[in-house]
Amino acid sequence: MKGMRGAIRKGVASLGSNSSLAEIAAILKRGKRFLLMTHEDPDPDGIGSMLALGKGLVDSGKHVALLTSQPVMGSLRLLKGSERIVNRLDPGWDFDVALALDSAEKTRLGELMEYLPSHGILINIDHHISNDYFGDLNFVDSDSSSTGELVFGLMKAAGLAIDHDVAENLFAAIQADTGSFKYSNTTSKALKIAADLVEYGARPWDIARKVMDGYTISRLRLLEMALGAIEFYHKGAIGMMSLTQGMFQKSGAQQADSERLVDYPRFVFGVELAVLMRESGKNDYKFSLRSNSRVNVALLASRFGGGGHVRAAGFEYHGSLNGIKGDFLQEAVRFLDETSG
Ligand code: 5GP
Ligand code: MN
Repeated sequence: MKGMRGAIRKGVASLGSNSSLAEIAAILKRGKRFLLMTHEDPDPDGIGSMLALGKGLVDSGKHVALLTSQPVMGSLRLLKGSERIVNRLDPGWDFDVALALDSAEKTRLGELMEYLPSHGILINIDHHISNDYFGDLNFVDSDSSSTGELVFGLMKAAGLAIDHDVAENLFAAIQADTGSFKYSNTTSKALKIAADLVEYGARPWDIARKVMDGYTISRLRLLEMALGAIEFYHKGAIGMMSLTQGMFQKSGAQQADSERLVDYPRFVFGVELAVLMRESGKNDYKFSLRSNSRVNVALLASRFGGGGHVRAAGFEYHGSLNGIKGDFLQEAVRFLDETSG
């Protein structure tokens, strides 16, 4: 489909503008072989969006590969169709359209970036405010609760069938990214789409049990240790939870078990900025940032090479803990002081 790529390239507007859903839907209809990808450290929004769109495309007769850089872990494996996800493409498996889902920039795809340069049209579907419009075609809407919400619109526009499995995966995506319909991105549109998905067969209670509230004993033990280690700074405006490799080993928890634990320091009255600092390897740290009402954590994360949303963001750091903790707290305090009053 080289000609198609050329034709589309010519029509692509300048960096930072969106294609219409209709344009992207037309490519979904015309394309034959699709590669669907999401970011490293995948979450229910990325995986749910990928599984839903993948199922819709397969059911309309397309060839589809679902690719993540690492095996899908924990509760995400319970989502319908997750066994179809692979971590490498068979040599010679070619595609004409690649879709990146829920990734603010190419580098968030990690090792999957190697599949991109010489292959087909790249479509970027995302809702991060920090998205840099890296696709040949882009559909980025930071007012959207989730990528799942965007995929729902896209599947409708492309006339793809929304069966029970698709509905479950899209519901899981929206439920997770809205924190079970309570974060500030819980718009009436997100709620209406969620209601539609229930009509299509999604069962909110089952999905919540699987994806949001399904704890292993290891995750609970990890939480127990993490709660004991929360520190407060700047008169209680910063709550920081730290997870060490030792805690993972002792509890038997996996890295994915730290998902949403950052909510606990955020729950505390007086905390504006909640931080989860997770030791992911030797001298490797993953920071998750959340704010309650005023600090733009996407901007704060971008100071350290990361990004995300205004109220939820993150970054990775390689180096010694003492250096980054001090640097981070200093910058965080500056952000808090600039936005106070
Ligand atoms: P979490 O803290 O749950 O891992 O991520 C919160 C939000 O920040 C997500 O929307 C995620 O995409 C974004 N985010 C997390 N880590 C990074 C990172 O290292 N780089 C960028 N650009 N965004 C991140
Ligand atoms: Mn998302």
